[in-house]
Amino acid sequence: MLQAGLAIVAGAAIADQAMAQDAQKIDKKLVMYQEQPKDGQHCAICAQFMPPNACKIVAGEINPNGWCAAFAPKA
Ligand code: SF4
Repeated sequence: MLQAGLAIVAGAAIADQAMAQDAQKIDKKLVMYQEQPKDGQHCAICAQFMPPNACKIVAGEINPNGWCAAFAPKA
């Protein structure tokens, strides 16, 4: 029972952390995020992309085939 309680607390802490991290990120609208690639550029080849569906700087779920104005090619 104690283990279940700890698991719930740990899960809540992780969810809180994810929300806090997202709150510090840029809103998709501000970087003109779109669900389609642009001029051969897309999130999966961007240095900011975090597989499978997140971005280091843009908030929310990110499509690997999406694009935004902050695109920076991987080195
Ligand atoms: S293109 Fe924009 S949303 Fe996509 S990974 Fe790069 S910075 Fe993030």
